Amino acid sequence: MELWQQMVRDSVHTVDQLVEKFGIDKKVAEDLDEFFQARINPYYFNLIRYPGDPIWRQCVPDKTELEDFDAAEDPLMEDAMSPVPNITHRYPDRALFLVTSQCGLYCRFCTRKRKVGDYEKISMRGLESAFNYLEQHTEIRDVILSGGDPLMLTDAMLEKILQRLREIPHIEIIRLGSRMPCVLPHRITPKLVNMLKKYHPIYCNTHFNHPWEITPESSKACQMMADAGIPMGNQTVIMKGVNDDPAVMKELVQKLLKIRVRPYYMYMADETKGANHFRTSIETGLSIVEALRGHTSGLAVPHFVIDAPGGGGKIPLLPNYVLHKDEERIILRNFQHKIYTYKNYADANNPNGFKSKNKLNGKNGKNASNGNGKGKKEELKPKKIKLPVMEEVNN
Ligand code: SF4
Repeated sequence: MELWQQMVRDSVHTVDQLVEKFGIDKKVAEDLDEFFQARINPYYFNLIRYPGDPIWRQCVPDKTELEDFDAAEDPLMEDAMSPVPNITHRYPDRALFLVTSQCGLYCRFCTRKRKVGDYEKISMRGLESAFNYLEQHTEIRDVILSGGDPLMLTDAMLEKILQRLREIPHIEIIRLGSRMPCVLPHRITPKLVNMLKKYHPIYCNTHFNHPWEITPESSKACQMMADAGIPMGNQTVIMKGVNDDPAVMKELVQKLLKIRVRPYYMYMADETKGANHFRTSIETGLSIVEALRGHTSGLAVPHFVIDAPGGGGKIPLLPNYVLHKDEERIILRNFQHKIYTYKNYADANNPNGFKSKNKLNGKNGKNASNGNGKGKKEELKPKKIKLPVMEEVNN
């Protein structure tokens, strides 16, 4: 047995352990266990600094979960978009392939609780029909291995899946969706990365939520993956009491870049049964984007998205940087709330836009080309527009 497997085995997971380690009332602990079992491996357990801290909140069951059923079982409608077991096909050219129900840590905010934990919830028996589906659907270029956590599979099992995917010519990209580099970095071994790099192009999206998760161990794991040629991205979820603070999120994204993980998505928390106590307002999310964009490297700024309830997919959100727009110009404010005007050029999409009098179009409009090279004259008078009164521009 490898070290990481032993650590999974040594996780806090029983009702008695919940009572003993966290002082949870026995009946409450039983109900929580029934609702969504605990798994806190010794590595992640040791990151806890005090009760209720951002690490604790992510992994220790809380009685609030039992009072919260204000959400659908499957808020993202993944099952409705599942043509065969183990596959969710929501977007045109990519598919989600669930390969295990197991994770190195069971996150209390998990959106996929209905699938996670019990071996029967994502059955390996469905793999064959999933492969058949992927073979038949030639539009699928990109397969995301998920679960559960695909890095909970043994190297041998994972390699079988990768080999089989690589036999399908139209699958160009394989992505691993794995929290293991963050929650159980010991899983990233030289043997694993040497196996993975035979199946490139492989990408990995991991999931760090707080700067305290960036430790010497998780840094090493991410760098080993990057050294094996696996581009690393990070998905984070904004959660109350964990990272709903611009300073915390800024520290997280900056530290991620240092360990060669590119912040990729920052999600509003999903409407998830037992996890609504983590949810924050959209304004909190926008204030975090405001604190990042322009204030730190663009490489560190993730896309801020809502994964739309009902299966609408990821929809990006931005603070309002556009103060006014018409055919000839756009008026913008920057990250310091200074205001700038950018001329909106004429082209096929905007024939009434600004037309330059520069040499390309002929001096003062004379000899202007009409596109057929014959130099037909063209009137190039920029249209006058009424600018908004600046006081109305709320910055
Ligand atoms: S690692 Fe992912 S799938 Fe597993 S419990 Fe955490 S959020 Fe859910």
